[in-house]
Amino acid sequence: MTMYWEREIETLPRPELEALQLSRLRQTVQQALRSPYYAALYRQLGLSLNAIGSLSDIGKLPLTTKQDLRDSFPYGLLAIGKSDVIRLHSSSGTTGNPTVVFHNQHDIDSWSSLMARSLYAAGVRPSDVFQNICGYGLFTGGLGFQYGAERLGCLTIPAGAGNSQRQIKLMRDFGTNAVHAIPSYLHRLAEVMAQEGFDPHKTTELRIFIVGAEPHSEEQRQRIEAAFGVKAYNSYGLSEMNGPGVAFECTRQNGLHVWEDAFLVEIIHPETLEPVAEGEIGELVMSTLDRQAMPLLRFRTGDLTRILPGTCPCGRTHRRLDRITGRSDDMFIVKGCNIFPMQIEGVLMK
Ligand code: ADP
Ligand code: ZN
Repeated sequence: MTMYWEREIETLPRPELEALQLSRLRQTVQQALRSPYYAALYRQLGLSLNAIGSLSDIGKLPLTTKQDLRDSFPYGLLAIGKSDVIRLHSSSGTTGNPTVVFHNQHDIDSWSSLMARSLYAAGVRPSDVFQNICGYGLFTGGLGFQYGAERLGCLTIPAGAGNSQRQIKLMRDFGTNAVHAIPSYLHRLAEVMAQEGFDPHKTTELRIFIVGAEPHSEEQRQRIEAAFGVKAYNSYGLSEMNGPGVAFECTRQNGLHVWEDAFLVEIIHPETLEPVAEGEIGELVMSTLDRQAMPLLRFRTGDLTRILPGTCPCGRTHRRLDRITGRSDDMFIVKGCNIFPMQIEGVLMK
């Protein structure tokens, strides 16, 4: 059985992967400078493409925040002509301007490939029936998974969110093998199945759950797996970096491979903004490496995580992120130690 969807890129030796990242970073900076926001900012700071001679030079570039995106709403970060844009996704924006991300055809193709690669890494195969239990529309989880599962070749059911009875009927009628849903919904679905008298172990052909879009613990994952007798794989993404398909667990379930041909990862201290020591927890900062319509450089995700040491036995060379342990706004410092609420919660749970 083949293990990889895009073998060459997924197993690229680190030196070649980093060379690819550098050339794509330079292209991205060049592209970003076509947007009004980055053009004005870099002119003001006296920065140009010449600043980037190596990957570590990324630290010379300013960080980009969610607020910067809001302030340049709607078109300030657009780096191509409007006529070449084919899609936008947007956050709800209940307070102030929403953030919006634009894509051209290249961006949608690239994102769909990343999604197909991610699903394959979690064990989904073209012969599977894939049920996408999440909201469609502006939210990225709907169309993101839809395009990826279709690209992989799955019979893809755009089930949408909610209505558990109908979800269960779809699963049984079409023999669903893989499901994407948020973890809190899967707890609910297990309850409904129990109420309706279905034993998911016997009455469905479910094999794989893709769970993500919200924080959840290893214990929660195990509860979901036990309730359904199904393997659950963690999926991480955020709308500013397309949505899902940023980092995904492979079948080894030992951290989330972040697709480093498409994203450049940094982990910084949320207060000093300096890189943390290797393997330490800090705020995840990401740059797009393969996006044309709206490249983002050094975007502060606000998510706390670390890069896991060592390599994965699956053979993929893209590094793995640890489960998200919280938000950088939640971190507090006691006697010089960084404390994260999720760590305390973990201890209390035990
Ligand atoms: P919204 O806030 O509208 O949901 P996004 O869909 O972009 O906007 O949400 C992205 C955020 O969701 C991430 O920055 C992160 O905080 C959280 N998130 C996404 N996937 C995971 C995951 N697998 N584990 C923990 N948190 C996640
Ligand atoms: Zn792996």
